[in-house]
Amino acid sequence: MVAERAPRMIHLDHNATAPLHPAAREAWLETADRHWHNPSGLHGAASRARDLLEGCRERLAAILGSDDPARIVFTSGATAADNLLARHLGSSAPPGSAVILSPIEHPAVVAPFAASFPGGVVETGCDADGVVDGACLEAALDAVGGRTVACVSVMAAGNESGVLEPWPALAGVCRARGVPFHTDASQWLGKLPAADLARCDWVTGSGHKFGGPRGVGFLLAPAGVRFRGDLGGPQESGRHGGTENLPGIAGMVAALEAREASMAATIAAGEAARDAAIAALRRMLPGAIVVSGGAERLWNTLAVIVPGADSRRLVATLDRAGIAASSGSACSSGAASAARVVAATGARIGIAPGVPVGMVRFSAGPETTAEEWLRAVETLATAATARPPRVSLG
Ligand code: PLP
Repeated sequence: MVAERAPRMIHLDHNATAPLHPAAREAWLETADRHWHNPSGLHGAASRARDLLEGCRERLAAILGSDDPARIVFTSGATAADNLLARHLGSSAPPGSAVILSPIEHPAVVAPFAASFPGGVVETGCDADGVVDGACLEAALDAVGGRTVACVSVMAAGNESGVLEPWPALAGVCRARGVPFHTDASQWLGKLPAADLARCDWVTGSGHKFGGPRGVGFLLAPAGVRFRGDLGGPQESGRHGGTENLPGIAGMVAALEAREASMAATIAAGEAARDAAIAALRRMLPGAIVVSGGAERLWNTLAVIVPGADSRRLVATLDRAGIAASSGSACSSGAASAARVVAATGARIGIAPGVPVGMVRFSAGPETTAEEWLRAVETLATAATARPPRVSLG
């Protein structure tokens, strides 16, 4: 019997996780096979592993625009990096200090900062697209009054709508006021050029968002900072305990280098394909709202709100049609994601809080074609206009 081949799924959920890049796979396998030794050891094989580790640190620092590899601390992902930062700041800032976050931060930032600064988290305002401009940040800094601000954290690109925050300008505002600036660049890295990120004091990244392996990430720190709040071994120059995941690190750096090398062409093609899909969606489903539609967004992301629809049902219908999409952030349910977006911007895009809305997020990769984008929005439009199935009680 000839086994039936399952049709290829169209993966439009890259913001949740991306497939492993061939360059990352090769680097991972090579490192796992040949350099599996513990980089902290004293023997020759360990020191070769250490050389490789330090080489990865240099290459990653260079991609981020820093000539100081010691600023990189490898972690097990973005959540771990955000936690490391929040614990460090919480343990070293004067009592009563505040932190300022944008209203669209990922739970990986919100939760650890809330735990490390109980009662000290201040949210900035934003416009209807979720953009935090310099004036919003200045207002939040003024509102904090005489308290020390341990950090301002504004993500580089939104995981739900792909909205681009003006982080270079925000970093400038913070520099002028002597306040440290952090950006969670998990969704920016591998999609847009990384070369200026080292101008931020603190930067978070995650390998699996751009084709690196799962379970590896990093925190870029200001030069010479002694970390507090993280307990364990002396790895990463005493800043983050635990044996380094060297195959993962090698894979992550290889994936990022590969993404950077092909980025210009990917951005141009990706933007054209996404914009054609939006134009088609507007024709087919005029009531749909593109989240952050008035702002610059990542070329790969399209989040659509469908008033009156059910997120889970839309995503399930897309799945049956061979399209893997999501209902927003990977870590919240569709309803919660849509509610969060509507709460931050809803009243200003014409949806009153409390009105049921469905949300679907498509997030493409470099391999996504224009035809796949079109198929996705056509399927969404059909699903959104179909009547819900009748439930028989008999
Ligand atoms: N920060 C942002 C902006 C994200 O989108 C994600 C993933 O959803 C994370 C942090 C968490 O990343 P990780 O899976 O590496 O912990």
